[in-house]
Amino acid sequence: MDKPYTGGCACGAIRYSIVGEPLFSNHCQCRDCQRESGSGHGSYATFARAGVTVTGEAKHWDMTANSGNAKTRCFCTHCGVAVYMTFAAQPDVFTIRVGSLDEPARYKPQAVTYAARAYGWDRLDPDLPKFAGMPPG
Ligand SMILES: [Zn+2]
Ligand SMILES: [Zn+2]
Repeated sequence: MDKPYTGGCACGAIRYSIVGEPLFSNHCQCRDCQRESGSGHGSYATFARAGVTVTGEAKHWDMTANSGNAKTRCFCTHCGVAVYMTFAAQPDVFTIRVGSLDEPARYKPQAVTYAARAYGWDRLDPDLPKFAGMPPG
C-alpha cells in the first residue's frame, strides 16, 4: 500500500493520516479562500473520508460556500491554523489544506477553481485547466 498522507496544524495538536490518493486536487481562487489564506488562492486535496484518521480536536466554523453549499472549516484553537474542511452535502469526502501536509511536495494540483475571481498578481501554472467556478458535475 502507498504511504499515507500525513499532516496537521502548526503546533501539532491536530494530526491526520489518510490512506488513498486524492480524488481531486485544486487551487481555489474564490474570495473565501483568498480571505482565509491571506493570499490569492487556497490549495486543497480532497480524499475519500473512509481513509481518514484525525487526532486532536478542531474548532469548526460553518459557512456557505460560493457554490451555495454548506462547508465546515476546521482549525486549531491553539495555533489558529486551518487544517481541513468537510461538507454537509458530501459527507464521504474530506479536504485538506495542502500546506498542512508533512510532505507538501507530494501535491499534484489538477485544476484551478473559481478562476473568475482571480487577481492578476496571483499567477498559477498556465497548463492547469481553469474553471470559472467549480467544475461541472
Ligand atoms: Zn495547532
Ligand atoms: Zn475557494
